[in-house]
Amino acid sequence: MPELPEVEALTAYLSQRLTGRVIAEVQPVAISALKTYDPPVTVLAGRTVGPVVRHGKFLDIEAGGLHLVVHLARAGWLRWKEGLPALPPRPGGRNPLALRVRLEGPDGDGFDLTEAGTRKGLAVYLVREAAEVPGVARLGPDPLDPGFGLERFRALLSGERRRIKGVLRDQSVLAGVGNAYSDEVLHAARMSPYKLAADLSEEETARLFEALGTTLREAVERSRGLAAGELKAEKKLGLRVHGRTGQPCPVCGDTVREVSFADSSLQYCPTCQTGGRPLADRRLSRLLK
Ligand SMILES: [Zn+2]
Repeated sequence: MPELPEVEALTAYLSQRLTGRVIAEVQPVAISALKTYDPPVTVLAGRTVGPVVRHGKFLDIEAGGLHLVVHLARAGWLRWKEGLPALPPRPGGRNPLALRVRLEGPDGDGFDLTEAGTRKGLAVYLVREAAEVPGVARLGPDPLDPGFGLERFRALLSGERRRIKGVLRDQSVLAGVGNAYSDEVLHAARMSPYKLAADLSEEETARLFEALGTTLREAVERSRGLAAGELKAEKKLGLRVHGRTGQPCPVCGDTVREVSFADSSLQYCPTCQTGGRPLADRRLSRLLK
């Protein structure tokens, strides 16, 4: 799933290509991806694209007073295309295309929103204000906002009885951090994902805050200037523990381990994060009973 750094890079990429351009046509293909119907997305035709911005993991493309807000979810992606045909694409079957935006001009350029797989989560909204999208209205502060400091972070965690892993990826606490970067931030902070947020010492909170900023800024820096099509590969390359079960930790060489949940998994390094002890894996222990 694209998280803050990838959506940030995508925002910059689209800003360069979209702002100032006129939309020729919006073609919804997978109707299930459309979460709003009034106004219909077809009214974007003829409007000029304004700023492209990010809210957490949401992409927000402004055009003529309306906002096309996109959440790419687990398997959604944006592909920039040249020479898009004027004819509408055919829906159905295994076609991953969900929505096509074609721009005016001789090149027939624009972009496709696609989604692979069967679990559909891609969400597209057309609204007058981005905050009309419930997921945007709920967002906590953005960790890359220059005004987001250690004291604010400390306040978010105080009294929070959940495990820090879950807190970091809760969009209403912090905007933009998901499963991958919460693993990376905790590894950089040398902290167990199971630690209760409220139990963090002042020093640990400061270390985590530092790791949060550094990890995200480094990832944004790596992604900057990359084309939309290259971002996913770059994200994979840059991750130290997430998705690397069984591989050596690049910091200490210990084997990266995994804890599995019903619909996700987390990865961590025992030596760096849990004093060398493997975390209990409930699914595994249940199987062993
Ligand atoms: Zn390690």
